[in-house]
Amino acid sequence: MAAEIRLFPCLTDNFGYLIHDPATKATASIDAPEAAPIVNALEREGWTLTDILITHHHGDHVGGVAELKQKYGCRVVAPHSAKIADADLRVGQGDVVKVGELLARVLETPGHTLDHISYVFDSEKALFAADTLFSIGCGRVFEGNYPMMWDSLLKLRALPDDFKLYCGHEYTAANIKFALTVEPANAALKARAEEVTRLRAANKPTVPTLLGEEKKANVFLRADEPSVAAGVRMKGRDAAEVFGELRERKNKS
Ligand SMILES: [Zn+2]
Repeated sequence: MAAEIRLFPCLTDNFGYLIHDPATKATASIDAPEAAPIVNALEREGWTLTDILITHHHGDHVGGVAELKQKYGCRVVAPHSAKIADADLRVGQGDVVKVGELLARVLETPGHTLDHISYVFDSEKALFAADTLFSIGCGRVFEGNYPMMWDSLLKLRALPDDFKLYCGHEYTAANIKFALTVEPANAALKARAEEVTRLRAANKPTVPTLLGEEKKANVFLRADEPSVAAGVRMKGRDAAEVFGELRERKNKS
Protein backbone atom coordinates (compact mmCIF):
# COMPACT_ATOMS: atom_id res chain seq x y z
CA MET A 1 0.00 0.00 0.00
CA ALA A 2 1.30 3.43 -0.87
CA ALA A 3 2.18 5.81 1.93
CA GLU A 4 0.03 8.85 2.57
CA ILE A 5 1.80 12.18 2.81
CA ARG A 6 0.28 15.35 4.25
CA LEU A 7 1.77 18.83 4.22
CA PHE A 8 0.62 21.88 6.12
CA PRO A 9 2.03 25.26 7.15
CA CYS A 10 3.92 25.74 10.43
CA LEU A 11 5.34 28.91 12.01
CA THR A 12 5.75 31.73 9.44
CA ASP A 13 6.84 29.88 6.32
CA ASN A 14 7.87 26.35 7.36
CA PHE A 15 6.19 23.22 6.07
CA GLY A 16 5.04 20.44 8.38
CA TYR A 17 5.00 16.94 6.89
CA LEU A 18 3.44 13.66 7.96
CA ILE A 19 4.09 10.36 6.21
CA HIS A 20 1.75 7.52 7.14
CA ASP A 21 2.09 3.78 6.50
CA PRO A 22 -1.46 2.38 6.05
CA ALA A 23 -0.22 -1.21 6.56
CA THR A 24 1.09 -0.67 10.09
CA LYS A 25 -0.50 2.71 10.92
CA ALA A 26 2.95 4.10 11.73
CA THR A 27 3.21 7.85 11.15
CA ALA A 28 6.32 10.00 11.04
CA SER A 29 6.65 13.75 11.21
CA ILE A 30 9.53 15.08 9.16
CA ASP A 31 10.96 17.66 11.57
CA ALA A 32 8.70 19.38 14.08
CA PRO A 33 8.67 23.16 13.66
CA GLU A 34 5.95 23.48 16.32
CA ALA A 35 3.63 20.97 17.98
CA ALA A 36 0.13 22.41 17.49
CA PRO A 37 -0.27 22.16 13.69
CA ILE A 38 1.24 18.67 13.74
CA VAL A 39 -1.17 17.53 16.48
CA ASN A 40 -4.05 19.07 14.52
CA ALA A 41 -3.05 17.28 11.32
CA LEU A 42 -2.72 13.96 13.19
CA GLU A 43 -6.15 14.37 14.79
CA ARG A 44 -7.73 15.34 11.46
CA GLU A 45 -6.49 12.04 9.98
CA GLY A 46 -6.97 9.90 13.08
CA TRP A 47 -3.27 9.02 13.08
CA THR A 48 -0.89 8.52 16.02
CA LEU A 49 2.66 9.82 15.82
CA THR A 50 5.25 7.03 16.05
CA ASP A 51 8.39 8.77 14.80
CA ILE A 52 9.96 12.18 14.29
CA LEU A 53 12.69 12.29 11.66
CA ILE A 54 14.85 15.35 12.32
CA THR A 55 16.91 16.87 9.51
CA HIS A 56 19.01 19.44 11.40
CA HIS A 57 19.29 21.31 14.65
CA HIS A 58 17.68 24.67 13.80
CA GLY A 59 14.91 25.76 16.17
CA ASP A 60 12.31 26.07 13.41
CA HIS A 61 12.78 22.34 12.70
CA VAL A 62 12.99 20.93 16.25
CA GLY A 63 10.88 23.39 18.28
CA GLY A 64 7.95 20.96 18.63
CA VAL A 65 9.94 17.79 19.34
CA ALA A 66 9.80 17.78 23.16
CA GLU A 67 6.06 18.41 23.33
CA LEU A 68 5.27 15.76 20.70
CA LYS A 69 7.51 13.19 22.36
CA GLN A 70 5.81 13.87 25.68
CA LYS A 71 2.34 13.52 24.13
CA TYR A 72 2.89 10.45 21.92
CA GLY A 73 5.99 8.76 23.35
CA CYS A 74 7.27 8.65 19.79
CA ARG A 75 10.79 7.74 18.69
CA VAL A 76 13.08 10.64 17.77
CA VAL A 77 15.52 9.99 14.93
CA ALA A 78 18.27 12.56 14.42
CA PRO A 79 21.63 13.12 12.78
CA HIS A 80 24.83 12.65 14.77
CA SER A 81 24.88 16.14 16.24
CA ALA A 82 25.82 17.54 19.62
CA LYS A 83 23.30 20.32 18.96
CA ILE A 84 20.32 17.92 19.09
CA ALA A 85 19.67 16.46 22.54
CA ASP A 86 17.70 13.34 23.44
CA ALA A 87 17.46 11.40 20.19
CA ASP A 88 16.48 7.73 20.40
CA LEU A 89 18.32 6.83 17.20
CA ARG A 90 21.23 8.59 15.49
CA VAL A 91 21.64 8.15 11.75
CA GLY A 92 24.10 9.10 9.02
CA GLN A 93 24.92 8.52 5.35
CA GLY A 94 23.52 5.23 4.02
CA ASP A 95 21.49 4.34 7.13
CA VAL A 96 17.91 3.20 6.61
CA VAL A 97 15.15 4.24 9.00
CA LYS A 98 11.95 2.19 9.26
CA VAL A 99 8.62 3.96 9.66
CA GLY A 100 6.35 0.97 10.03
CA GLU A 101 7.15 -0.91 6.82
CA LEU A 102 8.27 2.23 4.99
CA LEU A 103 12.00 2.65 4.49
CA ALA A 104 13.76 6.02 4.54
CA ARG A 105 17.30 6.23 3.26
CA VAL A 106 19.51 8.83 4.91
CA LEU A 107 21.71 11.13 2.85
CA GLU A 108 24.15 13.44 4.61
CA THR A 109 23.69 16.86 3.01
CA PRO A 110 25.87 19.29 5.00
CA GLY A 111 26.33 22.96 4.19
CA HIS A 112 23.29 24.78 5.57
CA THR A 113 24.35 23.18 8.87
CA LEU A 114 27.07 20.59 9.36
CA ASP A 115 24.54 18.10 10.76
CA HIS A 116 21.95 18.40 7.96
CA ILE A 117 20.57 15.12 6.61
CA SER A 118 17.85 14.40 4.04
CA TYR A 119 15.44 11.46 3.99
CA VAL A 120 14.60 9.54 0.80
CA PHE A 121 11.58 7.21 0.67
CA ASP A 122 12.44 5.34 -2.54
CA SER A 123 9.17 3.37 -2.66
CA GLU A 124 7.21 6.65 -2.53
CA LYS A 125 9.63 8.54 -4.79
CA ALA A 126 9.75 11.19 -2.07
CA LEU A 127 12.71 13.34 -1.01
CA PHE A 128 12.51 15.36 2.22
CA ALA A 129 15.36 17.82 1.81
CA ALA A 130 14.43 20.39 4.51
CA ASP A 131 16.79 23.39 4.22
CA THR A 132 19.31 21.92 1.77
CA LEU A 133 17.20 22.15 -1.39
CA PHE A 134 14.20 24.42 -1.86
CA SER A 135 12.05 24.71 -4.94
CA ILE A 136 14.10 26.99 -7.26
CA GLY A 137 16.48 27.68 -4.38
CA CYS A 138 18.68 26.21 -1.69
CA GLY A 139 19.41 26.88 1.95
CA ARG A 140 21.81 29.52 3.15
CA VAL A 141 25.26 28.14 3.87
CA PHE A 142 25.58 28.90 7.59
CA GLU A 143 27.99 26.27 8.90
CA GLY A 144 29.61 24.60 5.90
CA ASN A 145 31.27 26.08 2.84
CA TYR A 146 30.23 26.42 -0.78
CA PRO A 147 32.00 23.33 -2.19
CA MET A 148 30.44 21.26 0.63
CA MET A 149 26.94 22.57 -0.11
CA TRP A 150 27.42 22.07 -3.86
CA ASP A 151 28.40 18.43 -3.19
CA SER A 152 25.24 18.01 -1.11
CA LEU A 153 23.11 19.42 -3.92
CA LEU A 154 24.79 17.03 -6.39
CA LYS A 155 23.80 14.12 -4.14
CA LEU A 156 20.16 15.22 -4.33
CA ARG A 157 20.39 15.96 -8.06
CA ALA A 158 21.47 12.35 -8.63
CA LEU A 159 18.01 11.13 -7.58
CA PRO A 160 15.57 10.27 -10.40
CA ASP A 161 13.54 12.95 -12.19
CA ASP A 162 10.20 11.51 -11.08
CA PHE A 163 10.99 11.88 -7.38
CA LYS A 164 9.04 14.59 -5.55
CA LEU A 165 10.83 17.27 -3.57
CA TYR A 166 9.34 18.16 -0.18
CA CYS A 167 11.35 21.09 1.21
CA GLY A 168 11.46 22.93 4.51
CA HIS A 169 10.09 26.35 3.58
CA GLU A 170 7.67 28.13 1.27
CA TYR A 171 10.30 30.35 -0.35
CA THR A 172 9.53 29.54 -3.98
CA ALA A 173 8.23 32.92 -5.17
CA ALA A 174 11.27 34.83 -3.83
CA ASN A 175 13.59 32.16 -5.23
CA ILE A 176 12.04 32.53 -8.69
CA LYS A 177 12.46 36.30 -8.60
CA PHE A 178 16.17 35.81 -8.00
CA ALA A 179 16.60 32.92 -10.46
CA LEU A 180 15.12 34.99 -13.28
CA THR A 181 17.95 37.54 -12.82
CA VAL A 182 20.42 34.72 -13.59
CA GLU A 183 18.59 32.77 -16.31
CA PRO A 184 15.93 35.09 -17.75
CA ALA A 185 15.58 32.96 -20.90
CA ASN A 186 15.15 29.59 -19.13
CA ALA A 187 11.80 28.27 -20.44
CA ALA A 188 11.31 25.77 -17.58
CA LEU A 189 11.94 28.55 -15.07
CA LYS A 190 9.47 30.88 -16.77
CA ALA A 191 6.85 28.11 -16.81
CA ARG A 192 7.46 27.46 -13.11
CA ALA A 193 7.12 31.20 -12.41
CA GLU A 194 3.67 31.22 -13.99
CA GLU A 195 2.63 28.10 -12.12
CA VAL A 196 3.81 29.53 -8.78
CA THR A 197 2.00 32.82 -9.39
CA ARG A 198 -1.21 30.83 -9.92
CA LEU A 199 -0.66 28.64 -6.84
CA ARG A 200 0.14 31.57 -4.56
CA ALA A 201 -2.85 33.56 -5.83
CA ALA A 202 -5.00 30.58 -4.84
CA ASN A 203 -3.20 30.43 -1.46
CA LYS A 204 -1.88 26.95 -2.29
CA PRO A 205 1.57 25.53 -1.43
CA THR A 206 4.14 25.38 -4.24
CA VAL A 207 5.43 21.96 -3.11
CA PRO A 208 5.87 19.16 -3.77
CA THR A 209 7.61 19.60 -7.09
CA LEU A 210 9.26 17.06 -9.35
CA LEU A 211 13.02 16.79 -9.08
CA GLY A 212 13.21 16.64 -12.88
CA GLU A 213 11.58 20.07 -13.08
CA GLU A 214 13.97 21.42 -10.44
CA LYS A 215 16.94 20.16 -12.46
CA LYS A 216 15.69 22.23 -15.41
CA ALA A 217 14.70 25.39 -13.53
CA ASN A 218 16.60 25.67 -10.22
CA VAL A 219 19.76 27.72 -10.87
CA PHE A 220 21.38 26.39 -7.68
CA LEU A 221 21.22 22.85 -9.10
CA ARG A 222 22.55 24.19 -12.41
CA ALA A 223 25.81 25.86 -11.34
CA ASP A 224 27.66 23.63 -13.84
CA GLU A 225 25.51 24.82 -16.77
CA PRO A 226 27.23 27.35 -19.08
CA SER A 227 24.05 29.48 -19.17
CA VAL A 228 24.11 29.85 -15.37
CA ALA A 229 27.84 30.62 -15.24
CA ALA A 230 27.29 33.22 -17.97
CA GLY A 231 24.39 34.67 -15.97
CA VAL A 232 26.76 35.59 -13.14
CA ARG A 233 29.66 36.49 -15.49
CA MET A 234 31.74 33.43 -14.51
CA LYS A 235 31.93 31.53 -17.79
CA GLY A 236 34.35 28.59 -17.63
CA ARG A 237 34.76 28.71 -13.86
CA ASP A 238 34.47 25.78 -11.48
CA ALA A 239 30.88 24.82 -10.62
CA ALA A 240 31.42 25.16 -6.86
CA GLU A 241 32.69 28.72 -7.41
CA VAL A 242 29.71 29.56 -9.59
CA PHE A 243 27.47 28.08 -6.91
CA GLY A 244 29.17 30.28 -4.27
CA GLU A 245 28.60 33.38 -6.38
CA LEU A 246 24.92 32.47 -6.84
CA ARG A 247 24.50 32.02 -3.08
CA GLU A 248 26.27 35.33 -2.33
CA ARG A 249 24.06 37.18 -4.78
CA LYS A 250 20.92 35.56 -3.40
CA ASN A 251 21.95 36.53 0.15
CA LYS A 252 22.09 40.17 -0.95
CA SER A 253 18.93 40.08 -3.05
ZN1 LIG B 1 17.62 25.51 8.89
